[in-house]
Amino acid sequence: MDIKFSAEDLAFRDEVRDFFASEYKEVAGIESSDYKAAIISWQKKLHAKGWVAPGWPTEYGGTDWTVTQKFIYETERGLAGIPDVVPFGLKMVAPVIYTFGNEEQKARFLPRILSSEDWWCQGYSEPGAGSDLAALSTTADYAGDNYIVNGRKIWTTFAQYADWIFCLVRTSKGMRKQQGISFLLIDMKTPGITVKPIVSIDGKHSLNEVLFEDVLVPTENLIGEQDKGWTYAKALLAHERTGMAEVADSTRMLDALKQRASVEVNGGKSMIDDPVFQMRLSDIEMELMALEYTELRVFASMAAGGMPGPESSLLKIKGTEITQAIQELQLQLAAYYGGALPGDVDAQQLGHDYAFEARGKYMYGRAATIYGGSNEVQRNVIAKAVLGL
Ligand SMILES: Cc1cc2nc3c(=O)[nH]c(=O)nc-3n(C[C@H](O)[C@H](O)[C@H](O)COP(=O)(O)OP(=O)(O)OC[C@H]3O[C@@H](n4cnc5c(N)ncnc54)[C@H](O)[C@@H]3O)c2cc1C
Repeated sequence: MDIKFSAEDLAFRDEVRDFFASEYKEVAGIESSDYKAAIISWQKKLHAKGWVAPGWPTEYGGTDWTVTQKFIYETERGLAGIPDVVPFGLKMVAPVIYTFGNEEQKARFLPRILSSEDWWCQGYSEPGAGSDLAALSTTADYAGDNYIVNGRKIWTTFAQYADWIFCLVRTSKGMRKQQGISFLLIDMKTPGITVKPIVSIDGKHSLNEVLFEDVLVPTENLIGEQDKGWTYAKALLAHERTGMAEVADSTRMLDALKQRASVEVNGGKSMIDDPVFQMRLSDIEMELMALEYTELRVFASMAAGGMPGPESSLLKIKGTEITQAIQELQLQLAAYYGGALPGDVDAQQLGHDYAFEARGKYMYGRAATIYGGSNEVQRNVIAKAVLGL
Protein backbone atom coordinates (compact mmCIF):
# COMPACT_ATOMS: atom_id res chain seq x y z
CA MET A 1 0.00 0.00 0.00
CA ASP A 2 1.37 3.41 -0.97
CA ILE A 3 0.95 5.68 2.05
CA LYS A 4 3.19 8.53 0.94
CA PHE A 5 1.56 11.96 1.11
CA SER A 6 1.81 14.36 -1.84
CA ALA A 7 3.56 17.75 -1.48
CA GLU A 8 0.12 19.43 -1.24
CA ASP A 9 -0.91 17.04 1.51
CA LEU A 10 2.29 17.73 3.45
CA ALA A 11 1.72 21.49 3.10
CA PHE A 12 -1.82 20.98 4.37
CA ARG A 13 -0.49 18.97 7.33
CA ASP A 14 1.85 21.83 8.24
CA GLU A 15 -0.99 24.32 8.05
CA VAL A 16 -3.10 22.16 10.39
CA ARG A 17 -0.19 21.75 12.81
CA ASP A 18 0.49 25.50 12.87
CA PHE A 19 -3.15 26.33 13.42
CA PHE A 20 -3.51 23.88 16.31
CA ALA A 21 -0.25 25.06 17.89
CA SER A 22 -1.18 28.74 17.74
CA GLU A 23 -4.93 28.63 18.42
CA TYR A 24 -5.74 25.75 20.73
CA LYS A 25 -5.82 26.29 24.47
CA GLU A 26 -6.41 23.27 26.66
CA VAL A 27 -10.05 22.71 27.58
CA ALA A 28 -10.76 22.06 31.26
CA GLY A 29 -12.50 18.82 32.29
CA ILE A 30 -16.26 18.35 32.33
CA GLU A 31 -16.44 19.02 36.07
CA SER A 32 -15.32 22.56 35.36
CA SER A 33 -18.02 25.21 35.06
CA ASP A 34 -16.08 26.62 32.12
CA TYR A 35 -16.23 23.41 30.11
CA LYS A 36 -19.16 24.37 27.89
CA ALA A 37 -17.82 27.89 27.26
CA ALA A 38 -14.33 26.55 26.48
CA ILE A 39 -15.61 23.95 24.01
CA ILE A 40 -17.83 26.50 22.29
CA SER A 41 -15.00 29.01 22.07
CA TRP A 42 -12.75 26.38 20.40
CA GLN A 43 -15.50 25.31 17.99
CA LYS A 44 -16.10 28.94 17.07
CA LYS A 45 -12.39 29.27 16.19
CA LEU A 46 -12.68 26.21 13.99
CA HIS A 47 -15.79 27.67 12.41
CA ALA A 48 -14.06 31.00 11.71
CA LYS A 49 -11.29 29.02 10.00
CA GLY A 50 -13.93 27.07 8.02
CA TRP A 51 -12.84 23.76 9.56
CA VAL A 52 -15.59 22.90 12.02
CA ALA A 53 -17.51 20.51 9.77
CA PRO A 54 -15.14 18.67 7.40
CA GLY A 55 -17.74 15.97 6.84
CA TRP A 56 -20.54 18.28 5.61
CA PRO A 57 -21.24 18.98 1.93
CA THR A 58 -19.69 22.31 0.94
CA GLU A 59 -23.09 23.83 0.06
CA TYR A 60 -23.99 23.74 3.78
CA GLY A 61 -20.62 24.91 5.08
CA GLY A 62 -18.37 21.85 4.94
CA THR A 63 -14.80 21.86 3.68
CA ASP A 64 -13.92 20.61 0.23
CA TRP A 65 -11.13 18.45 1.65
CA THR A 66 -10.12 15.20 0.03
CA VAL A 67 -10.39 12.00 2.05
CA THR A 68 -6.62 12.19 2.60
CA GLN A 69 -6.89 15.71 4.00
CA LYS A 70 -9.66 14.61 6.36
CA PHE A 71 -7.42 11.78 7.48
CA ILE A 72 -4.49 14.13 8.05
CA TYR A 73 -6.67 16.55 10.00
CA GLU A 74 -7.99 13.82 12.32
CA THR A 75 -4.50 12.39 12.83
CA GLU A 76 -3.02 15.78 13.72
CA ARG A 77 -5.91 16.51 16.08
CA GLY A 78 -5.36 13.24 17.93
CA LEU A 79 -1.58 13.65 18.09
CA ALA A 80 -1.98 17.17 19.47
CA GLY A 81 -4.37 15.92 22.17
CA ILE A 82 -7.18 18.20 21.01
CA PRO A 83 -10.70 16.93 21.80
CA ASP A 84 -12.99 16.23 18.89
CA VAL A 85 -15.92 18.61 18.40
CA VAL A 86 -19.02 17.69 20.41
CA PRO A 87 -20.62 15.26 17.98
CA PHE A 88 -24.35 15.54 18.69
CA GLY A 89 -24.96 18.63 16.56
CA LEU A 90 -22.11 18.68 14.04
CA LYS A 91 -21.70 14.96 13.39
CA MET A 92 -25.04 13.40 14.22
CA VAL A 93 -28.16 15.51 13.79
CA ALA A 94 -26.75 17.79 11.06
CA PRO A 95 -26.26 14.96 8.53
CA VAL A 96 -29.84 13.84 9.24
CA ILE A 97 -31.13 17.38 8.71
CA TYR A 98 -29.24 18.04 5.47
CA THR A 99 -30.10 14.59 4.12
CA PHE A 100 -33.73 14.14 5.20
CA GLY A 101 -34.91 17.56 6.46
CA ASN A 102 -36.92 20.11 4.47
CA GLU A 103 -35.57 23.48 3.28
CA GLU A 104 -36.98 25.40 6.28
CA GLN A 105 -35.35 22.99 8.70
CA LYS A 106 -32.01 23.22 6.91
CA ALA A 107 -32.11 27.04 6.93
CA ARG A 108 -33.21 27.18 10.56
CA PHE A 109 -30.89 24.64 12.19
CA LEU A 110 -27.73 24.12 10.14
CA PRO A 111 -26.16 27.62 10.45
CA ARG A 112 -26.69 27.59 14.23
CA ILE A 113 -25.07 24.14 14.52
CA LEU A 114 -22.15 25.28 12.41
CA SER A 115 -21.54 28.37 14.55
CA SER A 116 -22.12 26.45 17.82
CA GLU A 117 -25.04 28.73 18.76
CA ASP A 118 -27.09 25.64 19.61
CA TRP A 119 -25.84 22.76 21.72
CA TRP A 120 -27.55 19.46 20.88
CA CYS A 121 -27.97 16.17 22.70
CA GLN A 122 -29.09 12.72 21.59
CA GLY A 123 -32.35 11.25 22.93
CA TYR A 124 -32.19 7.68 21.65
CA SER A 125 -31.65 5.31 24.62
CA GLU A 126 -34.37 4.52 27.15
CA PRO A 127 -34.37 2.34 30.27
CA GLY A 128 -35.80 -0.56 28.21
CA ALA A 129 -34.20 0.29 24.87
CA GLY A 130 -30.41 0.41 24.39
CA SER A 131 -28.95 -2.26 22.12
CA ASP A 132 -32.53 -3.10 21.23
CA LEU A 133 -33.22 0.53 20.35
CA ALA A 134 -36.39 -0.15 18.36
CA ALA A 135 -38.07 -1.29 21.60
CA LEU A 136 -38.35 2.38 22.62
CA SER A 137 -41.60 3.47 24.22
CA THR A 138 -41.54 7.28 24.48
CA THR A 139 -44.73 8.32 22.70
CA ALA A 140 -45.59 11.31 20.51
CA ASP A 141 -49.34 11.63 19.93
CA TYR A 142 -50.39 13.70 16.94
CA ALA A 143 -52.69 16.56 18.00
CA GLY A 144 -53.20 19.08 15.19
CA ASP A 145 -50.25 21.47 15.10
CA ASN A 146 -48.31 19.61 17.79
CA TYR A 147 -47.15 16.24 18.99
CA ILE A 148 -47.64 15.52 22.69
CA VAL A 149 -44.53 13.73 23.93
CA ASN A 150 -44.43 11.52 27.04
CA GLY A 151 -41.66 9.22 28.19
CA ARG A 152 -38.12 8.89 29.52
CA LYS A 153 -34.71 8.99 27.85
CA ILE A 154 -31.55 7.90 29.65
CA TRP A 155 -27.73 8.24 29.38
CA THR A 156 -28.28 11.53 27.56
CA THR A 157 -24.78 13.00 27.38
CA PHE A 158 -24.58 16.76 28.08
CA ALA A 159 -28.36 17.22 28.27
CA GLN A 160 -27.60 19.69 31.08
CA TYR A 161 -26.00 22.01 28.51
CA ALA A 162 -28.31 21.35 25.60
CA ASP A 163 -30.57 23.83 23.81
CA TRP A 164 -32.07 21.08 21.64
CA ILE A 165 -32.52 17.33 21.76
CA PHE A 166 -33.15 15.03 18.80
CA CYS A 167 -35.40 12.18 19.82
CA LEU A 168 -36.72 8.91 18.54
CA VAL A 169 -40.37 8.64 19.54
CA ARG A 170 -43.18 6.18 18.89
CA THR A 171 -45.94 7.70 16.78
CA SER A 172 -47.79 4.47 16.01
CA LYS A 173 -47.65 0.75 16.60
CA GLY A 174 -46.44 -1.02 13.47
CA MET A 175 -46.28 -4.69 12.53
CA ARG A 176 -42.58 -4.64 13.39
CA LYS A 177 -41.16 -2.57 16.25
CA GLN A 178 -38.97 -0.63 13.76
CA GLN A 179 -42.15 0.70 12.19
CA GLY A 180 -44.06 3.59 13.77
CA ILE A 181 -40.94 5.41 15.04
CA SER A 182 -40.46 9.11 14.22
CA PHE A 183 -37.53 11.53 14.47
CA LEU A 184 -38.37 14.75 16.37
CA LEU A 185 -36.34 17.88 17.14
CA ILE A 186 -37.30 19.22 20.56
CA ASP A 187 -36.44 22.57 22.16
CA MET A 188 -35.10 21.80 25.65
CA LYS A 189 -36.81 24.92 27.05
CA THR A 190 -40.28 23.48 26.32
CA PRO A 191 -42.41 23.13 29.48
CA GLY A 192 -42.68 19.52 30.70
CA ILE A 193 -39.01 18.58 30.18
CA THR A 194 -36.97 17.67 33.26
CA VAL A 195 -33.24 16.88 33.20
CA LYS A 196 -31.96 14.70 36.05
CA PRO A 197 -28.20 14.27 36.48
CA ILE A 198 -26.50 10.85 36.61
CA VAL A 199 -23.04 10.97 38.19
CA SER A 200 -20.82 8.29 36.68
CA ILE A 201 -18.24 6.07 38.42
CA ASP A 202 -15.49 8.65 37.77
CA GLY A 203 -17.44 11.12 39.92
CA LYS A 204 -18.28 13.39 36.98
CA HIS A 205 -21.53 14.60 35.52
CA SER A 206 -21.93 14.20 31.79
CA LEU A 207 -24.89 11.78 31.77
CA ASN A 208 -28.55 12.50 32.41
CA GLU A 209 -32.07 11.23 32.42
CA VAL A 210 -34.50 13.37 30.42
CA LEU A 211 -38.18 13.16 31.33
CA PHE A 212 -41.01 14.29 29.03
CA GLU A 213 -44.40 15.03 30.51
CA ASP A 214 -47.06 16.25 28.05
CA VAL A 215 -44.41 18.16 26.09
CA LEU A 216 -45.88 20.03 23.08
CA VAL A 217 -43.63 19.79 20.01
CA PRO A 218 -44.67 21.65 16.83
CA THR A 219 -45.24 19.21 13.94
CA GLU A 220 -42.86 21.35 11.86
CA ASN A 221 -40.07 19.82 13.99
CA LEU A 222 -40.67 16.37 12.53
CA ILE A 223 -37.86 15.19 10.25
CA GLY A 224 -39.01 13.55 7.04
CA GLU A 225 -42.14 11.44 7.23
CA GLN A 226 -43.99 10.38 10.35
CA ASP A 227 -43.34 6.69 11.24
CA LYS A 228 -40.24 6.55 9.00
CA GLY A 229 -37.80 7.64 11.71
CA TRP A 230 -35.99 4.29 11.88
CA THR A 231 -34.47 4.92 8.45
CA TYR A 232 -33.10 8.29 9.59
CA ALA A 233 -31.96 6.83 12.94
CA LYS A 234 -29.89 4.16 11.22
CA ALA A 235 -28.23 6.72 8.94
CA LEU A 236 -27.21 8.68 12.03
CA LEU A 237 -25.75 5.61 13.76
CA ALA A 238 -23.53 4.97 10.74
CA HIS A 239 -22.13 8.51 11.16
CA GLU A 240 -21.71 7.92 14.92
CA ARG A 241 -19.55 4.82 14.46
CA THR A 242 -17.08 6.11 11.94
CA GLY A 243 -14.01 7.71 13.48
CA MET A 244 -13.99 5.63 16.65
CA ALA A 245 -10.60 3.98 15.97
CA GLU A 246 -8.76 6.93 17.56
CA VAL A 247 -5.37 5.68 16.36
CA ALA A 248 -3.67 9.06 16.74
CA ASP A 249 -5.05 9.56 20.27
CA SER A 250 -3.81 6.10 21.27
CA THR A 251 -0.40 6.78 19.70
CA ARG A 252 -0.07 9.96 21.74
CA MET A 253 -1.15 8.16 24.94
CA LEU A 254 1.36 5.37 24.33
CA ASP A 255 4.21 7.83 23.74
CA ALA A 256 3.37 9.65 26.97
CA LEU A 257 3.16 6.33 28.81
CA LYS A 258 6.61 5.30 27.59
CA GLN A 259 8.10 8.62 28.58
CA ARG A 260 6.62 8.42 32.06
CA ALA A 261 7.62 4.78 32.48
CA SER A 262 11.23 5.77 31.80
CA VAL A 263 11.52 7.91 34.95
CA GLU A 264 13.94 6.19 37.35
CA VAL A 265 13.01 5.38 40.96
CA ASN A 266 13.70 2.49 43.35
CA GLY A 267 17.43 2.80 43.17
CA GLY A 268 17.75 3.54 39.48
CA LYS A 269 14.97 1.30 38.17
CA SER A 270 12.14 2.41 35.94
CA MET A 271 8.98 0.63 34.92
CA ILE A 272 10.04 0.50 31.28
CA ASP A 273 12.72 -2.06 32.34
CA ASP A 274 10.12 -4.44 33.71
CA PRO A 275 9.82 -7.38 31.24
CA VAL A 276 6.12 -7.92 31.93
CA PHE A 277 5.40 -4.23 31.31
CA GLN A 278 7.51 -4.35 28.13
CA MET A 279 5.57 -7.36 26.88
CA ARG A 280 2.21 -5.71 27.44
CA LEU A 281 3.44 -2.51 25.86
CA SER A 282 4.68 -4.26 22.72
CA ASP A 283 1.43 -6.28 22.45
CA ILE A 284 -0.51 -3.00 22.42
CA GLU A 285 1.90 -1.39 19.97
CA MET A 286 1.47 -4.27 17.53
CA GLU A 287 -2.31 -4.16 17.86
CA LEU A 288 -2.23 -0.41 17.29
CA MET A 289 -0.03 -0.73 14.22
CA ALA A 290 -2.39 -3.35 12.76
CA LEU A 291 -5.35 -1.07 13.49
CA GLU A 292 -3.59 1.87 11.84
CA TYR A 293 -3.11 -0.13 8.64
CA THR A 294 -6.70 -1.35 8.73
CA GLU A 295 -7.85 2.25 9.11
CA LEU A 296 -5.61 3.32 6.22
CA ARG A 297 -7.14 0.58 4.06
CA VAL A 298 -10.62 1.89 4.89
CA PHE A 299 -9.51 5.43 4.02
CA ALA A 300 -7.91 4.23 0.79
CA SER A 301 -11.13 2.52 -0.25
CA MET A 302 -13.10 5.69 0.64
CA ALA A 303 -10.63 7.79 -1.38
CA ALA A 304 -11.40 5.50 -4.30
CA GLY A 305 -15.11 6.28 -3.90
CA GLY A 306 -16.18 3.40 -1.62
CA MET A 307 -18.39 3.67 1.45
CA PRO A 308 -17.35 2.36 4.89
CA GLY A 309 -19.25 -0.86 5.52
CA PRO A 310 -18.97 -3.30 8.42
CA GLU A 311 -15.31 -2.24 8.67
CA SER A 312 -16.42 0.66 10.84
CA SER A 313 -17.59 -1.91 13.43
CA LEU A 314 -14.16 -3.51 13.32
CA LEU A 315 -12.44 -0.15 13.85
CA LYS A 316 -14.73 0.62 16.77
CA ILE A 317 -14.08 -2.72 18.50
CA LYS A 318 -10.30 -2.69 18.15
CA GLY A 319 -9.96 1.06 18.76
CA THR A 320 -11.85 0.96 22.05
CA GLU A 321 -10.12 -2.22 23.23
CA ILE A 322 -6.70 -0.66 22.62
CA THR A 323 -7.66 2.55 24.44
CA GLN A 324 -8.82 0.52 27.42
CA ALA A 325 -5.60 -1.54 27.41
CA ILE A 326 -3.53 1.67 27.50
CA GLN A 327 -5.67 3.03 30.33
CA GLU A 328 -4.97 -0.15 32.33
CA LEU A 329 -1.22 0.32 31.85
CA GLN A 330 -1.53 3.95 32.95
CA LEU A 331 -3.02 2.74 36.24
CA GLN A 332 -0.27 0.14 36.68
CA LEU A 333 2.28 2.86 36.11
CA ALA A 334 0.70 5.00 38.82
CA ALA A 335 0.79 2.01 41.20
CA TYR A 336 4.47 1.37 40.40
CA TYR A 337 5.55 4.89 41.28
CA GLY A 338 3.07 5.26 44.13
CA GLY A 339 4.55 2.17 45.77
CA ALA A 340 8.15 3.42 45.47
CA LEU A 341 10.69 2.76 48.23
CA PRO A 342 9.82 4.45 51.55
CA GLY A 343 11.40 7.85 51.63
CA ASP A 344 11.33 8.38 47.87
CA VAL A 345 8.95 11.27 48.18
CA ASP A 346 9.40 12.49 44.62
CA ALA A 347 8.45 9.10 43.18
CA GLN A 348 5.43 8.85 45.44
CA GLN A 349 4.29 12.31 44.39
CA LEU A 350 4.70 11.23 40.77
CA GLY A 351 2.60 8.12 41.46
CA HIS A 352 -0.04 10.27 43.11
CA ASP A 353 -0.18 12.67 40.15
CA TYR A 354 -0.35 9.84 37.62
CA ALA A 355 -3.04 8.06 39.64
CA PHE A 356 -5.19 11.18 39.83
CA GLU A 357 -5.18 11.51 36.06
CA ALA A 358 -5.27 7.82 35.17
CA ARG A 359 -8.09 6.86 37.53
CA GLY A 360 -10.74 9.10 35.93
CA LYS A 361 -9.74 8.12 32.41
CA TYR A 362 -9.73 4.43 33.29
CA MET A 363 -13.16 4.59 34.88
CA TYR A 364 -14.91 6.61 32.17
CA GLY A 365 -12.99 4.55 29.62
CA ARG A 366 -15.01 1.46 30.64
CA ALA A 367 -17.94 3.06 28.80
CA ALA A 368 -16.17 3.16 25.43
CA THR A 369 -17.05 -0.46 24.67
CA ILE A 370 -20.72 0.30 25.45
CA TYR A 371 -21.63 3.63 23.88
CA GLY A 372 -22.05 4.07 20.15
CA GLY A 373 -23.39 0.50 20.05
CA SER A 374 -21.75 -2.03 22.38
CA ASN A 375 -18.80 -4.09 21.11
CA GLU A 376 -20.85 -7.30 21.43
CA VAL A 377 -23.45 -5.80 19.10
CA GLN A 378 -20.68 -4.69 16.70
CA ARG A 379 -19.46 -8.30 16.63
CA ASN A 380 -22.98 -9.37 15.66
CA VAL A 381 -22.85 -6.83 12.81
CA ILE A 382 -19.58 -8.33 11.54
CA ALA A 383 -20.89 -11.86 11.93
CA LYS A 384 -23.92 -11.05 9.80
CA ALA A 385 -22.39 -8.73 7.21
CA VAL A 386 -18.97 -10.33 6.75
CA LEU A 387 -19.29 -13.95 7.81
CA GLY A 388 -22.90 -14.29 6.62
CA LEU A 389 -24.01 -15.96 9.87
C1 LIG B 1 -20.99 7.03 28.66
C2 LIG B 1 -22.23 6.78 27.86
C3 LIG B 1 -22.79 7.81 27.13
C4 LIG B 1 -23.96 7.60 26.42
N1 LIG B 1 -24.54 8.66 25.76
C5 LIG B 1 -25.74 8.49 25.14
C6 LIG B 1 -26.41 9.60 24.55
O1 LIG B 1 -25.93 10.73 24.56
N2 LIG B 1 -27.63 9.38 23.99
C7 LIG B 1 -28.20 8.14 23.94
O2 LIG B 1 -29.28 8.01 23.38
N3 LIG B 1 -27.59 7.07 24.51
C8 LIG B 1 -26.37 7.21 25.10
N4 LIG B 1 -25.76 6.14 25.71
C9 LIG B 1 -26.45 4.85 25.74
C10 LIG B 1 -25.80 3.76 24.91
O3 LIG B 1 -26.10 3.95 23.55
C11 LIG B 1 -26.34 2.42 25.44
O4 LIG B 1 -25.82 2.27 26.74
C12 LIG B 1 -25.92 1.26 24.58
O5 LIG B 1 -26.58 1.28 23.34
C13 LIG B 1 -26.22 -0.10 25.29
O6 LIG B 1 -27.52 -0.14 25.73
P1 LIG B 1 -27.91 -0.52 27.25
O7 LIG B 1 -27.09 0.34 28.15
O8 LIG B 1 -29.38 -0.44 27.37
O9 LIG B 1 -27.41 -2.00 27.45
P2 LIG B 1 -28.15 -3.32 26.97
O10 LIG B 1 -28.63 -3.15 25.57
O11 LIG B 1 -29.15 -3.70 28.00
O12 LIG B 1 -26.96 -4.36 26.96
C14 LIG B 1 -26.46 -4.97 28.16
C15 LIG B 1 -25.35 -5.94 27.77
O13 LIG B 1 -25.89 -6.97 26.90
C16 LIG B 1 -25.17 -7.02 25.68
N5 LIG B 1 -26.10 -7.30 24.57
C17 LIG B 1 -27.28 -6.68 24.32
N6 LIG B 1 -27.84 -7.17 23.19
C18 LIG B 1 -26.99 -8.10 22.71
C19 LIG B 1 -27.01 -8.96 21.57
N7 LIG B 1 -28.00 -8.93 20.70
N8 LIG B 1 -25.95 -9.81 21.39
C20 LIG B 1 -24.90 -9.84 22.28
N9 LIG B 1 -24.84 -9.05 23.38
C21 LIG B 1 -25.86 -8.19 23.59
C22 LIG B 1 -24.56 -5.64 25.52
O14 LIG B 1 -23.39 -5.69 24.72
C23 LIG B 1 -24.23 -5.29 26.96
O15 LIG B 1 -23.00 -5.86 27.35
C24 LIG B 1 -24.57 6.32 26.41
C25 LIG B 1 -23.98 5.27 27.14
C26 LIG B 1 -22.83 5.49 27.86
C27 LIG B 1 -22.25 4.33 28.65
